[in-house]
Amino acid sequence: MTEGPGLGRAALAARLSAIDERIADAARRANRDASEITRIVVTKFHPASLVRDLHALGVREVGENRQQELTSKASEVSDLDVRWHFIGQAQTNKASAIRRSADAVHSLDRAKLADSLHRVAEDDEPLDVLIQVNLTKDEGRGGIEPADASTLAEHILSLSSLRLRGVMAVAPLDEEPASAFARLRVVADQVRLLEPSATWISAGMTGDFVEAIDAGATHLRIGSAITGPRPDRG
Ligand SMILES: *Cc1c(COP(=O)(O)O)cnc(C)c1O
Repeated sequence: MTEGPGLGRAALAARLSAIDERIADAARRANRDASEITRIVVTKFHPASLVRDLHALGVREVGENRQQELTSKASEVSDLDVRWHFIGQAQTNKASAIRRSADAVHSLDRAKLADSLHRVAEDDEPLDVLIQVNLTKDEGRGGIEPADASTLAEHILSLSSLRLRGVMAVAPLDEEPASAFARLRVVADQVRLLEPSATWISAGMTGDFVEAIDAGATHLRIGSAITGPRPDRG
């Protein structure tokens, strides 16, 4: 059982509802239905007890960007009905661990990783995956080049244990998020031509979720605005 709401829990509840209000406002201004937008709370660097507190406040979608942290946290709170979104760079040799803990992988950016995630499938449900698109000019960053997304989408669609849901991106630091997200939208449309059910657009963090909502984001990945500052990585 969780403890009663202490000061920390009350502050968390206040931040969560403030963000949800801002999401609802942004959706209204963009003429969108807020119910089509999923708010994922990114809990990286915070203890599993935060996931428990968030769950008590109604949160069911949580995100992690490191496999080890995902694996340990998911097992610590395996009694909770939360969906785990893996949003970080994934190594192929961690595919099995990722697949065991994650309900959705937002950071699929190469055929080799798709093959690895497929190879380790057991009799489980298909794994929800999104193609991570690199919106920066730096090829070393996570994500596939926009021009190569359709080819990767076709490859993913050939793997029966993966369910292609859409696209994901992080806005570059040196560009207006709106123009970057507009490029993501183009890629999202291309992918949806190949697979009409791949409707997810995972975009928008603490600093740019309003712009992401304007650009059609369906899944926001919000961390610090809800969880408070991240503790030291240690
Ligand atoms: C940490 C992280 C987020 C959340 O970032 P905040 O700025 O704290 O909201 C979103 N997406 C990815 C990929 C992240 O690593």
